[in-house]
Amino acid sequence: MATFGNLSDRLADTFKNLRTKGKLSASDVDGTVREIRRALLDADVALDVVKEFTGHVRERALGDEVNKALNPAQQVVQIVNEELIAILGGQQRRLEFAKKPPTIIMLAGLQGAGKTTLAGKLSKWLAKDGHTPLLVAADLQRPNAVTQLGVVAEQAGVAIFAPEPGNGVGDPVQVARDSIKYAGVKQHDVVIVDTAGRLGVDAEMMAQAAKIRQAINPDEVLFVIDAMIGQDAVNTAKAFQEGVDFTGVVLTKLDGDARGGAALSVASITGRPIIFASTGEGLDDFEAFHPDRMASRILD
Ligand code: GDP
Repeated sequence: MATFGNLSDRLADTFKNLRTKGKLSASDVDGTVREIRRALLDADVALDVVKEFTGHVRERALGDEVNKALNPAQQVVQIVNEELIAILGGQQRRLEFAKKPPTIIMLAGLQGAGKTTLAGKLSKWLAKDGHTPLLVAADLQRPNAVTQLGVVAEQAGVAIFAPEPGNGVGDPVQVARDSIKYAGVKQHDVVIVDTAGRLGVDAEMMAQAAKIRQAINPDEVLFVIDAMIGQDAVNTAKAFQEGVDFTGVVLTKLDGDARGGAALSVASITGRPIIFASTGEGLDDFEAFHPDRMASRILD
């Protein structure tokens, strides 16, 4: 995975240095942990997450529970793999559907994070599975947003609910509320509500997102975050957690070539699971997130 190319290489080098060791001394472990720490920090993983991660690796590598059937390099790889899975959330967490349709999914995140694209990806993915999603344009901030969602809906072959063009700015809370009624009438079993983002965390945007959340009581609130956002990931994720109390995370732009530390930080920082990953601009560049598969890709 491009986002983790450099991190993967650095970890591989670290493990290679252990291959000739017959047994791990405390100083071998310390040296290794130091290299892992640097590699993670250079990949823009948040400091608190790095500290916790390396603390666990060190403790386990020095502890009695190492797998004696493995050589030292394999032991460290196994521990790092398990700890990576842990910071990525452990078990896979699937999208939750309402017992009684429609399932309401709200998207929140900064402008440019990839919400609108995700709306298309998610609706296409759901439609393939026999669902009848409705995309809702509750991003009335940017003049282009409604049009863009229309394009995405058409590409995905799904229905859209949007205010009439030329009707002024409109009230996104009302649009969101009306869309749920409409979905009931038209028998859409999933409603995906795209909300407005700003370039940075903004009180007004957050208040609006919170109002929409309150008005439609979603089954899932997905926080969409660009994996290349770097060290801003921590503050952005915390602000959205406080502002809209999201239920899950979607990582986007995992195909990018920048450092993808956000991907490794956000579940751990917020305690919310990563549910999907976005890996390109096309509507099919999208997958359910599996912590174990992601860890394997990083360690490949
Ligand atoms: P929004 O402002 O949050 O709705 O973001 P958009 O959906 O408009 O996406 C912003 C830009 O990022 C667009 O140019 C998208 O094509 C692009 N984009 C979205 N997701 C991905 C992704 O997973 N990978 C890449 N490379 N680009 C993406």
